[in-house]
Amino acid sequence: MAFFPLHTPNRLVGILAVYRDTPTPFTENDVQSGQTLAHLVTTALQNMQLLAEKHHAVVREKRLNEIARALYGERNLPTVLSTVIRAATELIGAEAGALGLIVDGAIIIHYPYNLPAQTQLHPQPRGRGLAWQVVETAAAIRLDEYTSHPAAEAQWIKLGLHAYLSVPIMSGYVCLGTLSLFHLTAGRQFTNRDQEMAGAIGNQAGIVIQNLRLIEESKQRANALAVSLARQERLDRLKDVFVQNISHELRTPLGIILGHAELMESGILGEMQPAQQDSVKIITRRVNMLTDLVNDLSVLLAAQTQEFRREPIQPHLLMNAMMDDFRLQAEAHEVHLQAEIAPDLPWINGDPTHLRRVFDNLMSNAFKFTPTGGNVTLRVWQEGDEVVFEVSDTGIGMPADQLERIFERFYQVQQKKKKKHPGGTGLGLALVKEIVEAHHGTIHVTSEEDVGSTFEIRLSALRLPVSNGGQ
Ligand code: ADP
Repeated sequence: MAFFPLHTPNRLVGILAVYRDTPTPFTENDVQSGQTLAHLVTTALQNMQLLAEKHHAVVREKRLNEIARALYGERNLPTVLSTVIRAATELIGAEAGALGLIVDGAIIIHYPYNLPAQTQLHPQPRGRGLAWQVVETAAAIRLDEYTSHPAAEAQWIKLGLHAYLSVPIMSGYVCLGTLSLFHLTAGRQFTNRDQEMAGAIGNQAGIVIQNLRLIEESKQRANALAVSLARQERLDRLKDVFVQNISHELRTPLGIILGHAELMESGILGEMQPAQQDSVKIITRRVNMLTDLVNDLSVLLAAQTQEFRREPIQPHLLMNAMMDDFRLQAEAHEVHLQAEIAPDLPWINGDPTHLRRVFDNLMSNAFKFTPTGGNVTLRVWQEGDEVVFEVSDTGIGMPADQLERIFERFYQVQQKKKKKHPGGTGLGLALVKEIVEAHHGTIHVTSEEDVGSTFEIRLSALRLPVSNGGQ
């Protein structure tokens, strides 16, 4: 009988025993053959082991990739968490698993997999249990025998927990929770490779969880923004309704005050002293200003809600009406009023009353701010699909740094020379802009102090040919 040890480089893996049923002793040659045979068997064993390991590694790598793909496509956090714990438990071949996430910095919620039904998973206060140790050190804990650890908990011992492996779920340098795996059968243990694999899954899970949290956060921020925008819009609408109601309520008493003031001025109620007449004149002027303000406010709100008529308008008729309206004023101010209106202009679509209001405002301003001897010019021409209207004057002009603001409500330019032009509410140009924009048009101003100002309005030309006499 002869024995030949089967040696791998680090350990003895078996023995080759050779028997002979005749009493012939083994020769030197037999021993050599036995040794060669033992060597061959060892090499074959080693190769088989390597192959099995390689196969195992390939399978694990493939599963890991599958898990990663499944996780990255998922948008729901609880689904991600249960996928992670199921995949990790199955891939590593553990008997059960649990995943804990830190919420509000103090507790861990568990996602159990395959744990006995009687397991009670309470949120764990900071610092208690092995999982918190993993979180705080950001390092894995692996125990071959859980019961012998000083921090072992009664309920887990009762459940029969033997081998324990817990790895941190990391996102960068921050630990988000733990991934824990259990063997409930005595003698089963976790290997280095199991620990590596669990670590890799923990890292992948960390990235996915963090991404989902960021997405959730930005969703919440977007929602909060939408809510506050909706609230702002509601407040704006309430404010508009309020202003509209007030304007409406003011109109009647203002009309009555004006009527009585005019009655007193007419002398029907008896002759007044000159001082009384002056007072009544002031009342009339101020009431007229207030009425203008109230009217402007109403039109502003109407422009915002687009409560306008739409009808075809011939630009040259609109301009002729403006020229007629301002001829007398031009003579009174001793200002030259001129018009340059191109022939064959296309029609435009709009609300004639409000468009007249636009040019009324621009022309009134032009006269108000142009000294005696100056010019006010009205020009209209076509450019592509647009009709361009221009009101220009050779008046006091405006400083460049204030041009941006003149279309704001109640804004009035600080001008040295303006003192002789009191009154005005600062609403006129805001109104002009709202009306033009409600017509889908644009307004632009250029101005130079002591040289003059030019306001340019562009409105779309009507495409379809319109039969004459539509205005
Ligand atoms: P207001 O009721 O004060 O005229 P507007 O909104 O019509 O209000 O105009 C705002 C300010 O823009 C005016 O107060 C005036 O200072 C300036 N402005 C408007 N048009 C002209 C112009 N043609 N020339 C010089 N300044 C002007």
